[in-house]
Amino acid sequence: MSNLPEMFGSNVFNDRVMQEKLPKETYKALKRTIQQGMPLDLGVANVVANAMKDWAVERGCTHYTHWFQPMTGITAGKHDSFINPVGDDRVIMEFSGKELIKGEPDASSFPNGGIRATFEARGYTTWDPTSPAFIMDDSLYIPTAFCSYTGEVLDKKTPLLRSMERINTEAVKILHLLGKTNVNRVLTTVGSEQEYFLIDKAMYDRREDLMLTGRTLFGAKAIKGQELDDHYFGTIKTRVSAYMKDLDNELWKLGICSKTKHNEVAPAQHELAPIFNTSNIATDHNELTMELMKKVAEKHGLVCLLHEKPFKGVNGSGKHNNWSMSTDTGENLLEPGKNPENNLQFLLFLAAIVKAVHEYQDLLRITVATAGNDHRLGAHEAPPAIISMYLGDDLGQLVQAIIDGTEYVSKGKTKMLTGVDVLADFKKDTSDRNRTSPFAFTGNKFEFRSLGSSLNIACPNYMLNTMVAEELSQFYETLKNANHLDEAVRALIKKVFTEHQNIIFNGDNYAEEWIKEAERRGLYNLKSMPDAHAHFTDAKNVELFVKNKIFTEQEFKARCEIELEIYAKQLNIEALTMIDMAKRNILPAVSSYMKELTDLALAKKALSPLIPTMMEETAIVSLSEKLVAFSQKITALEAAVAAAPQHSDDNLTAARYYHDGVLSVMEELRAIGDSMESETAAKYWPYPTYTEMLFSV
Ligand code: ADP
Ligand code: MG
Repeated sequence: MSNLPEMFGSNVFNDRVMQEKLPKETYKALKRTIQQGMPLDLGVANVVANAMKDWAVERGCTHYTHWFQPMTGITAGKHDSFINPVGDDRVIMEFSGKELIKGEPDASSFPNGGIRATFEARGYTTWDPTSPAFIMDDSLYIPTAFCSYTGEVLDKKTPLLRSMERINTEAVKILHLLGKTNVNRVLTTVGSEQEYFLIDKAMYDRREDLMLTGRTLFGAKAIKGQELDDHYFGTIKTRVSAYMKDLDNELWKLGICSKTKHNEVAPAQHELAPIFNTSNIATDHNELTMELMKKVAEKHGLVCLLHEKPFKGVNGSGKHNNWSMSTDTGENLLEPGKNPENNLQFLLFLAAIVKAVHEYQDLLRITVATAGNDHRLGAHEAPPAIISMYLGDDLGQLVQAIIDGTEYVSKGKTKMLTGVDVLADFKKDTSDRNRTSPFAFTGNKFEFRSLGSSLNIACPNYMLNTMVAEELSQFYETLKNANHLDEAVRALIKKVFTEHQNIIFNGDNYAEEWIKEAERRGLYNLKSMPDAHAHFTDAKNVELFVKNKIFTEQEFKARCEIELEIYAKQLNIEALTMIDMAKRNILPAVSSYMKELTDLALAKKALSPLIPTMMEETAIVSLSEKLVAFSQKITALEAAVAAAPQHSDDNLTAARYYHDGVLSVMEELRAIGDSMESETAAKYWPYPTYTEMLFSV
């Protein structure tokens, strides 16, 4: 489409449409709900619903759906049509305020971590007016929160919205204390960069492992990988470029500000970055982006892989969560300004974040811990499992000067002979990028880099918002009765930086020494998903969420159970898939090849004993030995899976069992399989190879 500004947001019931379609009073009432969280009365909802329906029907919609984000990790919704019979075999299209505000999907089949018995099957979805409704596939999508009949939270959006309220309340209190009484609201903002792989659909269809688990469970390394670094930012291939263009159009129609696209480090890997938005809308948009990435790929005969590690030996995919806070007066609270050394407001918010990341490093680690992401963290392609913060040279030196009580002189600032500072702004341009840090300051925001590519970003963001809200509330208590506010703020900043400086690390996070150094500093190194989740319900974490009213204790603990259960189930499916591939395809394929070699050797011998058969014999001996080892490993893996604790048992024990007792056997089986792949004639190998998958698009 040529007119991008006109196309942008054309499928969104956005502010412009609302102004156009709603009576003035209704519009104002709705805005009060959106901006100030005021309750919406049914009369207003009826008018809004009707306008939404008319707008959607004009655009070809027949259905509406309450769209929500249950704990499954993907979005959900059932589609109801607008039709209503009115006698004479006629129907009209109707949509009431009640239908807009509340839906009642059956909740019994969504994970709840044992909160409810299944007989209490009812669940509720409630309209979230802060994220605009939109049209997709002839349905009107209404973003909603999802809870049980008795009010327990069953989704990812509710805690995110609550955490945004918490941080808003606490940040506004601090700003008012510092004299910024014109600020009424503080919003957290997020921009999530999304990595993904594209491969040919025909090859995908032949890979049982990709279809069932999202990653390749067998596959010898391609001869060429990413070692030449010739893919990163390289020319985008025609087919990929057509895909990206199509994807952008679809995203723009939904009002998603897709901004940047480029090739990533690994072959067949790409990235998309949007312009940031509020945490809530950014989360909805990222979920939609992932869905559209997959849908649009199909149209191009491609498949979009969002798994964190689709291919062994080449970099996996992650997601960067750029996070900041800004006021309704348009100020970014993480903007250091020209003289951060005198910017107490900035330093105070920075201190809150430093303290939060230090005290709740385990939660940040937990929130990115999944079966898929375990393959990346600490593997020298993504940040390590140890959470630390990078502030950059300038800010790092400033913090150090505050701790030491010395005067801060920015090295970046050079005075010209005229005596004028030549650096316009605080080092935004030179804050050299530390790509190895999990949590890096990047000029006016923090970039949390440990997220896996398929993760719903709601979780890291409600964790982050809640922990920072908690610190801000503690700061407020310390400062509220101070006689000399400036002095009290300075003292608090110094105290916090001093006590929490151990979380700050500006060096190479991939280095061996860092592991030892981090241990000396007493930082967590939670290597695997089960290791991390063992700390999920530590008393301080439960207290954080209960005190800040994000979850009840039961709801919080249920989240942990759900994640552990998902982990064990995923590994179980992976193991079973491997066994199936090994027994039904790889074993027979290698055997057939050996038969061909044997026949050839025998034929040669029959012709004349003088014809050498060394080649066949060497290959047969090698493959025979490997086949024996391979089938023994299959048996071992079958035994390991059979001995796994059942679902009713303790979920942490089961997760640990799969990590320690199953994953390792899978790795051993794979190693033998991959080595046979490189010795077996290509025409016998049952699966597309890494070379084919990574280089054919
Ligand atoms: P880079 O040079 O790393 O690409 P960008 O400034 O383009 O840095 O930011 C990368 C991501 O960070 C984008 O998604 C961008 O919209 C987002 N971002 C920028 N400013 C903010 C902010 N204040 N809050 C949240 N995200 C932001
Ligand atoms: Mg980035």
